[in-house]
Amino acid sequence: LHSLEKSSKPVNLYGHLRKNEKLCYVLAAGVMNHDLPCIGKLYSDNLPAEGYFCGLLKDDEITFHVNIKKQWHKADVVIVDDNDIYKRTPFSSNLLDVLGKTRVVFFGVGSVGSRIALGLARSGIKNFRLIDPDIFSVENVARHVCDMTDVGRYKVTAVRERILRINPQAQVEIFPYDILSQRDKTKNNAFSDVHLIIASTDRKSVQLRINNECYHRSIPGLFVGCYDEARAGEVLFILPGITKVCYECLRGGTRQQEKSRQYDYSTAKSHEDYEGEPGLNAAINQVSDIAEQHAIALLLRNEQCEMSRLIKPHNNLLFISSGLGEGFYYLRDAYCFTKSFEVIQPIMKEPWTNCSTCQKSL
Ligand SMILES: [Zn+2]
Repeated sequence: LHSLEKSSKPVNLYGHLRKNEKLCYVLAAGVMNHDLPCIGKLYSDNLPAEGYFCGLLKDDEITFHVNIKKQWHKADVVIVDDNDIYKRTPFSSNLLDVLGKTRVVFFGVGSVGSRIALGLARSGIKNFRLIDPDIFSVENVARHVCDMTDVGRYKVTAVRERILRINPQAQVEIFPYDILSQRDKTKNNAFSDVHLIIASTDRKSVQLRINNECYHRSIPGLFVGCYDEARAGEVLFILPGITKVCYECLRGGTRQQEKSRQYDYSTAKSHEDYEGEPGLNAAINQVSDIAEQHAIALLLRNEQCEMSRLIKPHNNLLFISSGLGEGFYYLRDAYCFTKSFEVIQPIMKEPWTNCSTCQKSL
């Protein structure tokens, strides 16, 4: 090794060094803009002066060495090809190619958004924008993909790290602030080249604004929410100009209900307090998982594949009951779940006539 000193510039290697297990996982090389640790440098014909890990390229063969207590040991290295990640998805290489080129924007990476984001990263989506001004707190641990090691961080930072652990080559842009109140240029950048917007902000006022942006910019949207301690949830997708009912249509139809029941979100003191409502992790996940399948279907809706059949414009709304959902009334008491784990798909043919979004902007 010593004979290879003094030569060309090293290339940084990123991944995980498991000294205890004598394993190095090289997940990426070169210049990275994310949180994977740099575990060493690759010298084509040089040995690092310092450091605990190196790869040596000699006669077209790379051997890796790890320095433990100033002694070099040959190391087993797994070099990951990101195509291998998706070998066990149900998608052909053509479909993976389509998914890999799409970009999904998340408004909200709380319990719902974070789970869907990681799910999409596992399914072949590689380009993400995460928008959420919230800081991850101890109370979030019970129902979020992140954990105690993330307390005090922006949710978008922590979720980006989780996505990059799934696919280190993914592109994840983060916005730890309210993008909707930014100047037009910043806002337009956040919405540029986007194939799907997933809104799970837990705030009706924000969801309504996102709905408006979807229509204004002709971008498909997916709205996900849980109600009454996640006894029930809803998934609504919109394809501007194609689906008949938008998020405002849905909420507009429930405005009268607010008088008698006071709030959509039952136990919350106000709409804006809803995010503090408790809910069982598994019940929230059930709703998120149904939404996630619709997200993939929306991205593949123009492709010849089974997933695209999920997208039926007249069936763009699903009500879902969880384990405790039996007897739960929904939407002006028009729908009642008769059992646990039920999915109701009302046929939505007519928009709300007073809708200021889909009835005026088109
Ligand atoms: Zn509407």
